[in-house]
Amino acid sequence: VRTRGALLLNPGTNTGFTVTELELDPPKAGEVLVKLTAAGLCHSDYHGDTGDTIASGTPLLLGHEGAGVVQEVGAGVTKVAVGDHVITSFMPSCGHCRWCVAGRGNLCDRGAQLLSGKAMDGTHRVHTASGDPVFVGTFTGTFSEHIVCPEDSLVRIEKDVPLDKVVLVACGVPTGWGSAVTLAEVEAGDVVVVIGTGGVGMNAVQGARYAGAKTVIAVDPVQWKRDIAIAEFGATHAAASIAEAQELVTSLTNGVGADKAIITVGVVEGDMIDPALGLVSKGGVLAISGVSAMTQTDTKLSLFAFVLYEKQIRGGLYGKSAPNLSIPKLVDLYRKGDLNLDSLVTNTYPLEKINEAYDDMMTGKNLRGVIVY
Ligand SMILES: [Zn+2]
Ligand SMILES: [Zn+2]
Repeated sequence: VRTRGALLLNPGTNTGFTVTELELDPPKAGEVLVKLTAAGLCHSDYHGDTGDTIASGTPLLLGHEGAGVVQEVGAGVTKVAVGDHVITSFMPSCGHCRWCVAGRGNLCDRGAQLLSGKAMDGTHRVHTASGDPVFVGTFTGTFSEHIVCPEDSLVRIEKDVPLDKVVLVACGVPTGWGSAVTLAEVEAGDVVVVIGTGGVGMNAVQGARYAGAKTVIAVDPVQWKRDIAIAEFGATHAAASIAEAQELVTSLTNGVGADKAIITVGVVEGDMIDPALGLVSKGGVLAISGVSAMTQTDTKLSLFAFVLYEKQIRGGLYGKSAPNLSIPKLVDLYRKGDLNLDSLVTNTYPLEKINEAYDDMMTGKNLRGVIVY
C-alpha cells in the first residue's frame, strides 16, 4: 500500500517531522493492516524529536494513539476481522504470558522489543518511496495514514462511537484515568492532587473524581487548563505550582496532607519528587505516570520522612491498567457520558500540520491535538 506519513529524519535534533510518501508491505502472519481515521498527538512522541527517548533508527515513524478500520488481516489473525473498528495500544498484549494472565497486560512480555523500531519478526514493514527501511515506534507508527501492526497491538471496539474522539483512549486517557483509579487507588472521600493537567493529567482529574475523591486539586502553570479542569473535568480547586498546591493542601486538610498525589507532567524531573511527596499525608501515595528523559537518574528525597511517615512512591505504565481491559471500559464510560473526551480534543489538524500541532502543545494551547486523516 502506498501511504503517507510524518517521519523524523534526524531524531533527537529538534528538527520536527517531515511528511512524505511511504510504501507499506502487506500484513504478515499475526499482523493487521488498518486505515486510520485519527491519530492523537501524545507528548511521548515529541520526546523522539527532542531526544529524551533514544531513537531505534533513522528515519523514524512515531505515533502510537490511533483509531481506524481494519482493511486486511494476515495469516492466523483471530482477534480482529476486516471492517472492525480498532484502537491501537503502544503496549502489545499477547493474552497468555504471566503478566497478561494476571490481568497486567500493560507489562506484557511482547513489550520487550517495543523500542526496536522493527516488526516482531525483526524485519521492516514500512519503507521510504526509494525503498529504504523505516523504523517504527512501539509497533504502531500512527503518524501514517495506513499502518501494519501486530494484532496484539489492537483492541476492537464497538462501531457506534466517533473514532476521532475515542482515539484518545489509545494512550493519554487510560494512562491518566488509571493513574488515579488503579495506580494511586483513589478512594471515596480522598483529597487528591494532580500535578500537570494536560492530555494525560486531565484524565487523572476525571478518574479521581469518578472514584469518589471529595477534593481534587489541579496543578498546572497554564491558567485556562486550571479553569477547564474545574469547569469541565471535576477538579474542585486549582494551583499554578506545587508550592501553591502545598499551601492549599495544608489549609484544606488542617495540615494533614493529601491522600494521593499524581505526577502527570510532560517531562518528569528529579527535583519534583520531594516537593510532590511533601503534599501527601502519613501513609499517603505519590503516583508517577509522566515520562522522564532516559538519562534522568538523580532525585533527592527525605528518606527520613519517607520511612517514618510510611509514604509510598509508585511508578505506573499505562496507568497500571491492561489495554484490553481499560480501553473498552473507557469507551463505554464515554458512551454513557461519564468520561469527557469532547473537551479533551482542543484542535484537529491534517497530517501536514503536525509540526504546528506540536508547537501548539508546547505553548500550552492544547489539551490534546488530534490528526484527522
Ligand atoms: Zn502516549
Ligand atoms: Zn502478554
